[in-house]
Amino acid sequence: MKVLVPVKRVVDYNVKIRVRPDGTGVELSNVKMSMNPFDEISVEEALRLKEGGNATEVVVVSIGPAKAEETLRTALAMGADRAILVETDDHVEPLAVAKILKGVADAEKPGLVIVGKQAIDDDSNQTGQMLAALLNVAQATFASAIEVSEGRALVTREIDGGLQTIEIKLPAVVTSDLRLNEPRYASLPNIMKAKKKPLDRKSPDDFGVSTAPRLKVLKTEEPSGRKAGVKVESVAELVEKLKTEAGVL
Ligand code: AMP
Repeated sequence: MKVLVPVKRVVDYNVKIRVRPDGTGVELSNVKMSMNPFDEISVEEALRLKEGGNATEVVVVSIGPAKAEETLRTALAMGADRAILVETDDHVEPLAVAKILKGVADAEKPGLVIVGKQAIDDDSNQTGQMLAALLNVAQATFASAIEVSEGRALVTREIDGGLQTIEIKLPAVVTSDLRLNEPRYASLPNIMKAKKKPLDRKSPDDFGVSTAPRLKVLKTEEPSGRKAGVKVESVAELVEKLKTEAGVL
């Protein structure tokens, strides 16, 4: 079984995000970019499926600028077998991403697609669900455990107030949640080897998908800063402040 893992190049999660002065979005120039953390988790899970004898090949795909090759090379250094870069400088919205991924899946015929539950830049949480609908296959979102056997998968999902385990037929789309696993680091020798692994280049046109935006960003704002706290001398003073100042008692 082949596993397809979409990986997105996003602003590194450690970077303090700055809004562009004209409010059209966030500042991306001279900012460290990395693989979306949920996608690292998906790559790790795909590799574990392969190591456990439940998958034969791990293919990673990214839709983005030429520099997204770095993100793909990171996935290859972790252990993925092959990469596909669908190159575009446009800001590609989730529906167009899902349509392109459908094209890739139609060509590659994976038994399982492991998508991140959300990309931490736009926080859309849409691509996996849309892809499952376009492919007309089962979906299991927010996975914290995946067990594959004989054309089926048992997926444990993180839901409000607990965990739910569902059985789905393969092929399917699963979206990974934070507790699915802890991704490995790529070793230096593997980083060197990854430079020679195969990487196919495509364009959205190859899949007949338009990347023209359907949404217009009206404005982007910084969240308002938190007010500084105060230290109180006694419980009585705390209760008094909660009553008179915070108005919560
Ligand atoms: P989103 O729906 O935008 O929150 O993204 C959810 C997941 O879809 C991500 O974690 C990725 O696995 C995948 N995805 C979204 N955008 C891209 C992209 N440009 N290239 C590859 N995968 C993507």
